[in-house]
Amino acid sequence: MMHSIYPWLKDAWMAIHQNHKLPHALIFKGKEGIGKHDFAIAFAKSYLCQTQLPNYLPCEACPSCHWFPDSHPDFKHIAPIESEDDESSKRKTVRKKNIAIHQIRELSEYLELSAHQEKGKRIVLIEPADSLNQSASNALLKILEEPPENTLFILVTSQAQRLIATIRSRCQLLELRGPSLEEARLFLDGQKIVHEESLLSFTGGSPFSAMKELENQSERSVITQLLAQGHKVDITKINYTILTQGLDWTVNMIQKWAFDLLLSFHTQQSYYFKKEEARIYSQAKQLNLDALLLFTNELNELKKIASHPVNQELQLQNIFIKYKQIFEPS
Ligand SMILES: [Zn+2]
Repeated sequence: MMHSIYPWLKDAWMAIHQNHKLPHALIFKGKEGIGKHDFAIAFAKSYLCQTQLPNYLPCEACPSCHWFPDSHPDFKHIAPIESEDDESSKRKTVRKKNIAIHQIRELSEYLELSAHQEKGKRIVLIEPADSLNQSASNALLKILEEPPENTLFILVTSQAQRLIATIRSRCQLLELRGPSLEEARLFLDGQKIVHEESLLSFTGGSPFSAMKELENQSERSVITQLLAQGHKVDITKINYTILTQGLDWTVNMIQKWAFDLLLSFHTQQSYYFKKEEARIYSQAKQLNLDALLLFTNELNELKKIASHPVNQELQLQNIFIKYKQIFEPS
């Protein structure tokens, strides 16, 4: 039953199909790594399917299902592209990707054509919607203000607060919940994915983030070893392989460590780094709380520019200089 819908999303699946007054635009919102993309694709497929199965599943046999997703004339998937003026790839940085205005202009032209199938239904999937840049957002808003008939817009995001308010107010919000730890564990087992118990807590219970993290295991262990050294980290000996996944990823790791330090300070427990719980607690006992809070703020600031072209090695050195300071008495 409902093979293609993840167990934790089945309620949302039924709810959306039993909503007989679908609006012009929907926001699918939920945490990173819980399967929002697959859910949206399955929904679009089922919406356009000519012979839906029980439980609203797409039949996988009609022409519409066969065209999906790449050659369906009534389905448009708008995803971020790299900005052309960006030379950052030479400097090991992750390129900034956006949904640009010309993509929305092309969408607008596409929507002027009539739909291919008889019933005339069309779906536009925008994902992740928080990567719409300012001008693209405004252009999309214009379309949503006078939505073409029989066209359903789906905006997928884990950061709905980053959408402009005028877009949000034109969409109906569908909250997608993530799996419980048990559901996530069962899911990974079902996929025959061998994982450490601690990995799911590290990804906050997101099974797909866990699958992604498995590929970064060596970087993860290098950075964990660095952070575990506390005030003894030798800034001159930082191993920059931890930047392979981009500064954004590295900062994210350090944020989780900082979170665990704070948690451990209050409760003696870790949330993300379960395996390092004892080590983190021994660090937490000697930390300077004010310095840790400052450090956390700095990480947040850095996160904002981490996907921009910056000198990543220098930024990382700075982080570790400040990291050492959180273990110095005030
Ligand atoms: Zn079908």
